[in-house]
Amino acid sequence: MAKEETDCVFCKIAKGEIPSDKVYEDNDTFAFLDINPINPGHTLVIPKKHFNNMLDTPPEIFSKVMLIVQRLSKPIIKVTKADGLGIGINNGEAAGQVVNHLHVHIMPRFKDDGYKSWERTDSIPKQDMKAIAEKISKEL
Ligand code: 5GP
Ligand code: ZN
Repeated sequence: MAKEETDCVFCKIAKGEIPSDKVYEDNDTFAFLDINPINPGHTLVIPKKHFNNMLDTPPEIFSKVMLIVQRLSKPIIKVTKADGLGIGINNGEAAGQVVNHLHVHIMPRFKDDGYKSWERTDSIPKQDMKAIAEKISKEL
């Protein structure tokens, strides 16, 4: 087994080797409360098998994870009485990923919680926007 798997905190949580506040479990996925939540009910959904992030996760596993994200969303809203729900995946250190085992954040949001969304810019020239859209399309 690769070193990152034996040392991985989320692999250990999925196996029950490290305790967590479990919300859901099936053969392929595991969901538990984030230890440092943005708000109460902040939940992480992971595949039981180790993948570093979304980019190296097989589509069939990723689909299973996302189906659980959707399934948990309404119960989380109901229980926390959230006004909205943010869904997030950080892929890579530059994007804020700290734990290198794919995890999807389900984050209850409240009108008055004071958090902001990510920063945006309007400084990218129109022709650059068009060029990048075309380049991405061609990669598919
Ligand atoms: P990332 O920044 O990698 O997208 O998010 C990692 C998340 O995992 C953080 O929000 C952090 O609070 C959470 N986390 C890190 N270690 C543990 C742990 O041992 N148990 C639980 N429940 N959450 C953890
Ligand atoms: Zn892992």
